[in-house]
Amino acid sequence: MPMIPATQVPGVYHRRVGDILVTALHDGHQDVSMTTVLGIDPAEAAAMLGAARRPVPRRTTVNAFVLRDGRRTVLVDAGCGPRGAATAGRLAANLAAAGLSPDDVDLVLMTHLHPDHFGGLLDSTGGAAFPRADLLLHEAEHAHWNDDAAMMRLEDPARRKVFFLNAREALAAYAGRLSTFAVGEVCSGVTAVSLPGHTPGHTGYRVASGGRSLLIWGDIVHVQELQVPRPEVTMLVDVDPPAAIATRRAILAEVADRREGIAGMHLHFPGLAHVVREGDGFRLLPDAWSTDLAGDAPA
Ligand SMILES: [Zn+2]
Repeated sequence: MPMIPATQVPGVYHRRVGDILVTALHDGHQDVSMTTVLGIDPAEAAAMLGAARRPVPRRTTVNAFVLRDGRRTVLVDAGCGPRGAATAGRLAANLAAAGLSPDDVDLVLMTHLHPDHFGGLLDSTGGAAFPRADLLLHEAEHAHWNDDAAMMRLEDPARRKVFFLNAREALAAYAGRLSTFAVGEVCSGVTAVSLPGHTPGHTGYRVASGGRSLLIWGDIVHVQELQVPRPEVTMLVDVDPPAAIATRRAILAEVADRREGIAGMHLHFPGLAHVVREGDGFRLLPDAWSTDLAGDAPA
């Protein structure tokens, strides 16, 4: 008798944008208390998740993306890494399933410095998980997590460590290979899009090639069943909630009106979708599985 699998297939999915191959990598998921969801009545949030047949507390997917153009291999975010939840930290295994070793990564682009994005920058020994890679992030993001006054505004020492000190430790492993940017093209075919609010330097990356484009929007949405129809729903970890709301509304409207595809770190894997306007909010249209790497071009 053939063996019956006891584990899921690798979380790897390709989408070509012109000459650039975007590969979604699944890092796993985190079950997070509903007390982290603000700007909505908790009972209503639970009802909306139930209506979408999703678990409560919220189960949030964690994705990262690899960009390859035949010259460089670029990783966007690094997942939770070895210190995260037991249900996450699968990026390294899925990178291998995509045919890549950590040595293949030339550049890591960070959307922002939260633990579910920078955790995978370190391996289980605390060294750089991507030994050859340069590391690039927005200058405001670098400044914020290195700001002692901002750190001391957190009352809980455990949170100071998880957010600020661990971020600094991850950056330190890339000393000499770390740079920051303010705006513009960060590597061939990839342009930084400033999306502040969730964190001060939260950044999306617009991948454009051959007349096609895809916006990797980072953490614009953590819970798609709540924040797409209700962009005013915020997260406890948002550094500036009003700015996060304004940015979310603006970028949802922009990609809806442009009919531009998006990729999200916390959308259900593989995290590729389009957005349409609906009522006072928006609706997410997850992309269909496509055998053709170019996907289905929107009509
Ligand atoms: Zn996140």
